[in-house]
Amino acid sequence: MAARKRSTVSEVFVGLTEIPIHYREMDECCGSWNGLHDPVITIHDKMPVLQQNLTILHETLHAISDMYNLEWSERDVRTLEQTLAALVHDNPALFKALMK
Ligand SMILES: [Zn+2]
Repeated sequence: MAARKRSTVSEVFVGLTEIPIHYREMDECCGSWNGLHDPVITIHDKMPVLQQNLTILHETLHAISDMYNLEWSERDVRTLEQTLAALVHDNPALFKALMK
């Protein structure tokens, strides 16, 4: 059986906090944020890479909500996930300029 592809993202940074990304097969789809006591994001590695990356963004938004005490609902996080992913995808000039 061919090996599944895995996202190349190994960590995300939120402010000064480095959050490692762990990949493994999970019982429930699609990922989890472990919480402030042990900041790790775990991603179900049996999904397409695009879905893995969207899930990393989704779980990072949960982390931001926790870290800054924003109390975003699941609906808030899903809305931000979809709109931020589209914003980055549709505006490469802006994000390239922000990287300078
Ligand atoms: Zn969620």
